[in-house]
Amino acid sequence: MQDDKINIRDLLPEELASELKAMGQPAFRAKQLFGWLTRGVSGWDEMTNLPKPLRAALGERFYLGAPGVLRKQVSAGDGTVKYLWRLRDGNAVETVVMRYHYGNSVCISTQVGCRQGCAFCASTIGGLVRCLTPGEMLEEVMFSEKESGLKIGHIVLMGIGEPLDNFDNVVKFLKLVNHPDGMNIGMRHISLSTCGLTERFADLAALDMQLTLSVSLHAPDDETRTRIMPANRGRGVAKLMDECEAYFKKTGRRISFEYAMIDGVNDSKEQCALLAKHAKRVAAHVNLIPLNHVDESPLKPTPPERIAEFKRALEREGVNVTVRRSLGGDIEASCGQLRKKTAEAMKSGTERA
Ligand code: SAH
Repeated sequence: MQDDKINIRDLLPEELASELKAMGQPAFRAKQLFGWLTRGVSGWDEMTNLPKPLRAALGERFYLGAPGVLRKQVSAGDGTVKYLWRLRDGNAVETVVMRYHYGNSVCISTQVGCRQGCAFCASTIGGLVRCLTPGEMLEEVMFSEKESGLKIGHIVLMGIGEPLDNFDNVVKFLKLVNHPDGMNIGMRHISLSTCGLTERFADLAALDMQLTLSVSLHAPDDETRTRIMPANRGRGVAKLMDECEAYFKKTGRRISFEYAMIDGVNDSKEQCALLAKHAKRVAAHVNLIPLNHVDESPLKPTPPERIAEFKRALEREGVNVTVRRSLGGDIEASCGQLRKKTAEAMKSGTERA
């Protein structure tokens, strides 16, 4: 049974300090406690330099635990590791560890499910269940590192969920994971990906964090974009570009456009020219991604030779463009697929250990 205790990993060091102060503890305890919490302990007994009565008192008030591994898959091809974690309330989320020449990067989920309804995405099929707390996101990073033995240097918020739909918790998570007394992962090593909730761009820019904003554009015109991304309705590409430009001007950080290439949907010459115009206006880097197949969707990826052609056309326009290498193809590393399939299998009783 779940109790209503707060996850102690949801607290920033200054919040821990005021809790401890109220308990009559000396100031240095907060740093000791935060150190343990961000080193991936899963029980109070592991905090050997804290007095036993203090550990007991904390345990009365706060929850401390670790997410359980429901499934782990390792790609035979490129070593990508994918976890399906069981959260405390029985929900499940996915985290993927990817290995690059510059180090290991973790792709984390920010919500259980998603309510944005993108036509090509597996994460949104069952809708939004709930938002993740800051501590749960920290645990994804920390326990992926601990369980895999792979030191994490980079984070992308590109897993299940829409980070800007969970704004306050995501910002708090960023402060937790960036804290010098904790995991100390630099903001310049963190990317936040959004489907374009434009009303939040100025709030994010105002925080002046040095992270990379990645915009899932996927179509340069309103007709196509609204069709495949319902979040475009009521916002629109023009507004999105205005907000991208304002974000770039305020932060000096270049934005990335994610562009999943979908056969016959967003890969025409006209769309290429319009994409180039948008990218040049806001000095964006364009990331072309061959669409990952999702069983429930009739959408197909653009064939590789046409992706290469699209890329060359953007380059001729002077756009900075890359084609994203697809990792973990053999383990369904495209987000949302593992959570969904496991939930279905458990429902039908066919899941094997
Ligand atoms: N909600 C956020 C972050 C999660 S999705 C966002 O929309 O950006 C992470 C990235 O994967 C997004 O760029 C999303 O559009 C993309 N994506 C989702 N399903 C995909 C698929 N089947 N093939 C390729 N990219 C996909």
